[in-house]
Amino acid sequence: MKPQTAIIALGLAAALGALAQQAQQAPTGYTDTPTLPGSNWRVHDEARPRPPVVTPGTCSTATVPGSPPSDAVVLFDGTSLAAWRAENGAPPKWKIQDGYLEVVAGSGDIVTRQDFGDSQLHVEFRTPSPPKGNSQERGNSGVFLFGIYEVQVLDSFNNPTYADGQASAIYGQSPPLVNASRPPGEWQSYDIVYSGPRFKEGKVAAPGYVTVFHNGVITQNHTQILGATKHRALPMLIEHGPRGPIKLQDHGNPIRFRNIWIRPLGSDNPA
Ligand code: MG
Repeated sequence: MKPQTAIIALGLAAALGALAQQAQQAPTGYTDTPTLPGSNWRVHDEARPRPPVVTPGTCSTATVPGSPPSDAVVLFDGTSLAAWRAENGAPPKWKIQDGYLEVVAGSGDIVTRQDFGDSQLHVEFRTPSPPKGNSQERGNSGVFLFGIYEVQVLDSFNNPTYADGQASAIYGQSPPLVNASRPPGEWQSYDIVYSGPRFKEGKVAAPGYVTVFHNGVITQNHTQILGATKHRALPMLIEHGPRGPIKLQDHGNPIRFRNIWIRPLGSDNPA
């Protein structure tokens, strides 16, 4: 074969190869499909924006905290309370040691400096070992959404108490579906997805909802928020805006926390 012929043959082979590859490529979307009801997008719409890419975090182990997803707002990374304040605005007096945060009894609740709207919140906690006290006096703390709706933190391992007060209850409103508690001294996790109520003229225009996974087990399944958390009283209607802080409770017990992060969802959140 002459060199020129060889070059032509090679070029042809390359062009045919590229064509074959093109023919094998699956479509990345469609422009001729029906439009979804109530939507501007077609089924499998080629023009529909692809979701942003997030690098997932790593899971915690019994001894080592995991890492948050790449787009999370880190609220506690084991070293700093910069994201928090005491309720009176002063720096919080809770103790940081060996990568965890511990409630200092009598120093008061701590509150995030930033407000959040509807969000995904990850919190890890450990109740004291050996346990002390019983019922609500054993390993009590709490995660308050919007600063007023409590997802209860309690040592609920072999510790009878009222159902709507045990770990991962919406306190005073909704017991968890199951008791997924680990023993005292072991790290546990809450993954909470919530949306706040919307108000109009002093009334709830659209209710808020909370979903909780306790140690990976769903314990609140889109539970409706009835009102601000109360003790021995009905939940109370408190009108508030679309954002509020996260609050952690000082109930006088030395609960430890680690690896706390939040992923704001929707337009009511800070950019
Ligand atoms: Mg509590």
